[in-house]
Amino acid sequence: MTAGNLADGGEAGLSRPRADTPTAANTEMSTAASAAASTAASAEGTLITAPRIVPAAQATVLAPGYVTFSGGLVTAVGQGRPPRAPDIELADGVLVPGFVDLQVNGYFGEDLMTADAGGWEKVVRRLPETGTTAFLPTLVTAPLPELCRALRGAADLAPALRVGARILGVHLEGPFISPGRRGAHNAAWILEPTPAAVEKLVVAGSGLLRLVTVAPERRGAMAAVRQFTAAGVLVSVGHSDATGRQLSAAGDIGARMVTHLFNAQRPLHHREPGVVGTALADSRFTSGLIADLQHVCAEACVIAFAAAPGRVHIVTDAASCAGMPSGRYLLGGEPIDLPAHAGRPPTRADGTLAGSALRMDAGVAHMVRAGVSLTDAVGAATRVPADAIGRPELGRIAPGAAADFAWLDDDLMTRATWIGGQCGYLRPARG
Ligand SMILES: [Zn+2]
Repeated sequence: MTAGNLADGGEAGLSRPRADTPTAANTEMSTAASAAASTAASAEGTLITAPRIVPAAQATVLAPGYVTFSGGLVTAVGQGRPPRAPDIELADGVLVPGFVDLQVNGYFGEDLMTADAGGWEKVVRRLPETGTTAFLPTLVTAPLPELCRALRGAADLAPALRVGARILGVHLEGPFISPGRRGAHNAAWILEPTPAAVEKLVVAGSGLLRLVTVAPERRGAMAAVRQFTAAGVLVSVGHSDATGRQLSAAGDIGARMVTHLFNAQRPLHHREPGVVGTALADSRFTSGLIADLQHVCAEACVIAFAAAPGRVHIVTDAASCAGMPSGRYLLGGEPIDLPAHAGRPPTRADGTLAGSALRMDAGVAHMVRAGVSLTDAVGAATRVPADAIGRPELGRIAPGAAADFAWLDDDLMTRATWIGGQCGYLRPARG
């Protein structure tokens, strides 16, 4: 097997320039690496060595480290000298579990509310470029029939998408949210939760609906929390003006998450902790954090990590403009504008922030630059979100876990990605 196998599309979904001379000088990957990344694997499975591995199962860095995998699962991980010669030798950078993003509205020009089969295929096939190997497609507030249609479409399409990032379910952000904390959601489509409306959404999701963002202070919302929980849908509190006490009450009946901590929710006051304070203080809750340093400043990110260790997960909240040049795009079927200034998030016409153009690897890098440890930042992009939605076989490099990895360079940008042991992305070598 040669490097050509990789470039020739030996793995479905690969479309990269071939690494013709993958030598030590071309440090993208060794020859053995390219070959093994293609299909590979001896009876002993595939063995990767790296100068650093962050397994995320515990707060350690294996330096150097090795991992073996077979049949799509990790079989061993260790520090120091590997038990045999490696199939893939990563010359530099760090190997981490593939990223798990619980809030992706769209990417690469595709708005998942309106995307067709080709659009969905593009998003799952290309998300590994950003280190993401599993995600929750996210639908924002829309008219109820439209949401049901989008949910049915997702439930029909998802099982057929066998290449690229794993779809772990759908995150429905709305429509049972607070008009006063609506952010970029269209006020005209926000609903008071009724048992019938909840039932329609659950049925339309056909089991794919995994997470729903609700404002528990709305009339009827506590019953909706119970109803979603009973249907196996995790409840996250967001776009909410709930007091700390109201958030705790939602926790008492099953809510376990908070959507994009700090944004579009009642803030922390020292006599009324609001959603933010109670999310950090109450160990039942895990909170998403949009780690673009635009939605939340660096200091507030550091506060969240310090106050709720192991309970903060990085999300992109990416909109269709992510991975694209500046211009006009859609979020939830309505226009947003991505400014030309790199790093600035997209907005609605009135200037309201409307999702992001963030990559997960950049989110991890931002947190590390803000002062969060590498192990905590990687954990927040991998193990914490996987555990939060009940997928402990993902988000860690540990025996029995899925062989989903991201190889990051020393700037923490993605060089290669594996999903179930198959190479899902290899960054073209730079000449
Ligand atoms: Zn939101």
